Amino acid sequence: MTTIQVAGESIDTRHYINGQRVASAETYANTSPIDGSFLGDISRGGEHEVNLAVAAANAAFKGWAAMGPKKRGEILLRLAELVEENIETLAQLETMDNGSLLRSHRRGVMPRVAMNIRFFAEWAINDLHHEVFETRGHTNNISWDPSGVCALITPWNAPLMLATWKIGPALAAGDTVVLKPAEWTPLSASYFADLTKQAGVPDGVFNVVQGFGKEAGAALVAHKNIARISFTGSVPTAKTIARAAADNLTPVSFELGGKSPLLVFEDADLNLAAELAVEQYDNAGQVCLSGTRILVHESVADEFAAKFAERAAKIQQGDPRDENTDIGPQIHQVHFDRIKGFVDRAKAEGANIVMGGEPNTELGGLFFKPTLVKNPAADSEIVTAEVFGPVLCMQTFSTDEQALEMANGTEFGLAAVVVSGKRAHADRITKELVAGTIWVNCFFVRDLRAPFGGSKKSGIGREGGNWSFDFYADVKNTVVSPNGWKE
Ligand code: NAD
Repeated sequence: MTTIQVAGESIDTRHYINGQRVASAETYANTSPIDGSFLGDISRGGEHEVNLAVAAANAAFKGWAAMGPKKRGEILLRLAELVEENIETLAQLETMDNGSLLRSHRRGVMPRVAMNIRFFAEWAINDLHHEVFETRGHTNNISWDPSGVCALITPWNAPLMLATWKIGPALAAGDTVVLKPAEWTPLSASYFADLTKQAGVPDGVFNVVQGFGKEAGAALVAHKNIARISFTGSVPTAKTIARAAADNLTPVSFELGGKSPLLVFEDADLNLAAELAVEQYDNAGQVCLSGTRILVHESVADEFAAKFAERAAKIQQGDPRDENTDIGPQIHQVHFDRIKGFVDRAKAEGANIVMGGEPNTELGGLFFKPTLVKNPAADSEIVTAEVFGPVLCMQTFSTDEQALEMANGTEFGLAAVVVSGKRAHADRITKELVAGTIWVNCFFVRDLRAPFGGSKKSGIGREGGNWSFDFYADVKNTVVSPNGWKE
């Protein structure tokens, strides 16, 4: 079987290379995190399929690059429309595949997928320019030229959303693409490939190779004909990719993990703070940006904790297809066991687990209860390592200096949430925080014009607006003399 049925549509389980479906001799079983049901046998790519895809992308590059942003934009805008026309199918299949909420996919995520494509197509047409400036009469003319084949490697926690943050600017810049989706969530990329075909994206411009990181992923990032590697995933994988990229000096963009702080100051609106804190369980805690370390001023800690507990008790865990569900299952048994391992080790060390701390046995399967660890030791694993599950830690501080020291005292620097009622106070704090994105009295507001990325071990580079094109394109300066002209 090379297709599976979701929402009345056929989803192909093979690679998409040069506009054609290509099968591998070997496959792997893909199951749904919701109930463990078998979804389909997915083609398991390796070096051979990667070579085919990179060759196709290389062959298609010249034509796509030569088209220019306007003509490419017409095709990409059609692609964005097709995503919008197929939101229901995309939402259902993504939920089946990764267990995130169907309502979020329908109303938030898939519309954003369309936006990711549309935004960068329009940006390339309207906003990608630099004012010409003179140096002793010579003009500096800056342009963003297509760079070649981009290797895009993505995780499972928001598969198509994260993939299109990369696909959008890469295609709009005139590059061609080989996407390697996460092995646990292959379906939305496959269906998206069909939409690229329908939109008129020329064969070879967009390719998908399915398979495992150590096989398809490793072959892709080591390929010598890759112009850019854009990777979203974990720190250990990033280190492996960086080593492979070093051999060819391939530029990399890395969006990695986090252990972000959520700071609640003594002047904060504690109802807002509690709401924002409970939001950190969204997507069953499988969000790189989650503020998993809640740091509260000691004078308001008890009141905040009571408000948090009241709200957290209302979290509905269950089938992500149910409109009333707030959080669904973890992605996979392997990941579930990893999360449980973190919590079990914390328990063994005597951590004070005041909520959850165990699988939800009523639901069975891959459901882990929202968990809160109170006042863990500062150097304990549960506070320092990224769990990537519904596990939050709560610690207290007594001064701003201590809060900043705790907030910045991590190898990560992806995001931070600050809850304070006084602007000058919040300004002082945000200035000192080390993070790619800081949200003040809010969470998850993301504008594609803004830079996005991580400090320290949370990433290399920034994407969004011009930052994306600075990475995906070859930025060129042509200096033209006022002399030597015959016409
Ligand atoms: P992962 O690093 O295990 O895998 C990510 C991708 O890399 C997958 O497609 C995988 O197949 C591939 N891969 C694995 N080994 C590879 C190799 N040797 N060569 C090439 N590719 C390889 O990460 P994950 O478990 O899928 O995702 C969770 C991680 O992603 C967390 O750390 C999370 O914080 C991070 N993340 C970061 C962001 C961000 O924007 N900063 C967003 C989402 C997730």
